[in-house]
Amino acid sequence: MPEHDTETRFDRMRALWRCGCAVGQDWLYPSHCTLCLEPAPSGICAGCADDLPVNAHPCPTCAQPLPAAGVCPACQQDPPALDAVWVPFAYAWPLSQMLLRFKNGGRASLRRPLAGLLAEHLVPEATQGVDRVLPVPLHAKRFAERGFNQAEQLAAVLCRARGLRLDAARARRVVATASQQGLGRRARRNNLRRAFVVEGDLSGQRVLLVDDVMTTGTTLNTLAREVRRAGASWVGAVALARA
Ligand SMILES: [Zn+2]
Ligand SMILES: [Zn+2]
Repeated sequence: MPEHDTETRFDRMRALWRCGCAVGQDWLYPSHCTLCLEPAPSGICAGCADDLPVNAHPCPTCAQPLPAAGVCPACQQDPPALDAVWVPFAYAWPLSQMLLRFKNGGRASLRRPLAGLLAEHLVPEATQGVDRVLPVPLHAKRFAERGFNQAEQLAAVLCRARGLRLDAARARRVVATASQQGLGRRARRNNLRRAFVVEGDLSGQRVLLVDDVMTTGTTLNTLAREVRRAGASWVGAVALARA
């Protein structure tokens, strides 16, 4: 048997075993920390939450981690469409693993700890004076594959926790864009051009966008431009983790 066949079969068995373990863990320990199995009704204990990689000294308009407080050179040169961005965590292990399993690994139970982290660790000023919250929409095709929009799930918990208005149907993703991974800034921008449609009039509204992960900010800035075109007076964005 060729070697790659064995590898494929081994990978499949390992994936099945991991999936089985994860489902077993969710079933046996529904109100325990997903990382250390200590009792934690929120799905993640305070100790593990404190150990997660934080996004210290982020640029205020793109949340890029910087060595010291200030605006990054890219934002100084080419100001982004977003007025402000808050991303409490860095996209690093174990948070990166949790987000991947939540989105692509069938671990729907990770919604609670992940959404809880955003609602608890996002600074209060991020949601002050916000009129409505728009999660970054998924294309219908991607939504059908996944069965949920992870950004909407995070936004829903944030809105409930802070008494904000969730406006999940306002924006639609009309172009099924190819994956943004591995693309440069300009290629990402071209890839996303006309990807979003924002319905109705948002005149004078302060709008907060929500996504799970912010990579370069191209997705959020593209959507922000459409929201602004619909009349919004201020557009901010939050995400759980910054790559
Ligand atoms: Zn824990
Ligand atoms: Zn910046």
